[in-house]
Amino acid sequence: MSTHSPFDLSGKVAAVTGANTGIGQGIAVALAQAGADVALIGRSDADETAKMVDALGRRALIVRADLSTVEPVNRVVADIVSTLGGLDILVNNAGIIRRNDAVDFTEDDWDAVMDTNLKSLFFLTQAAARHMVDHGGGSVINIASMLTFQGGIRVASYTASKSGVGGLTKLMANEWAGKGINVNAIAPGYIATNNTAALQADEDRNRQIMERIPAGRWGEPSDLGGAAVFLASDAAKYVQGHILAVDGGWLAR
Ligand code: NAP
Repeated sequence: MSTHSPFDLSGKVAAVTGANTGIGQGIAVALAQAGADVALIGRSDADETAKMVDALGRRALIVRADLSTVEPVNRVVADIVSTLGGLDILVNNAGIIRRNDAVDFTEDDWDAVMDTNLKSLFFLTQAAARHMVDHGGGSVINIASMLTFQGGIRVASYTASKSGVGGLTKLMANEWAGKGINVNAIAPGYIATNNTAALQADEDRNRQIMERIPAGRWGEPSDLGGAAVFLASDAAKYVQGHILAVDGGWLAR
């Protein structure tokens, strides 16, 4: 029997989009704690996350890219492979949200969210998968949402994008499981980040949300770390196309 932990990511190269803050930062740090070197992909300065990864004794690579278009995706994968020596784990975390009543929702708010949350997610993963197929496989983790399962309110393009993320997770798993690529998703519940600052600040909505969370609190970015390490690791090698809720029990209510 091997003494090697199936959760150990030593020697692996991970990439996390939107890793300068929030959930992406929490996941990048968790992957580094489990042993991975981590590429931090995003349009903003990820120095703080890079320092956290360095402090864990792992290599951090900052890759500047604006994922509101698909233009950077091939360059991003090429930079990571040439600098860190490979790409084994991709976490598609970058995402935005726009709020408006459905009757007033603008085309701009539709396109901006769909392009970043869904289109770039697909084409970055396609670029990564082309590398992984030729280099022994890998793991892809998409960040979904409660709105992968529910309708939400005043967030039409966000719900469409995150429902799409759920569908694409299954499609990519179907096509690539046999090629050694595990594709799964994490659906975070209500996590305290910039993305949810407006909800946290709205007293009524905050109270309604808290009343429905069995765990009795908002999640923290670090609450997503264990699920990400699991899905990135050999421990999950027979887990395909799954959407893992990390929500303090929200969906069970
Ligand atoms: P956040 O703090 O706003 O982080 C979003 C990240 O995405 C930031 O790093 C942001 O970079 C990056 N990003 C946005 N647009 C980008 C672009 N065009 N190019 C590159 N990077 C871009 O929010 P978060 O809550 O951690 O969100 C992370 C993911 O979790 C999102 O996909 C979100 O939908 C999902 N999620 C969050 C919750 C929650 O409760 N917080 C629940 C379910 C799902 P900048 O700093 O430059 O904007």
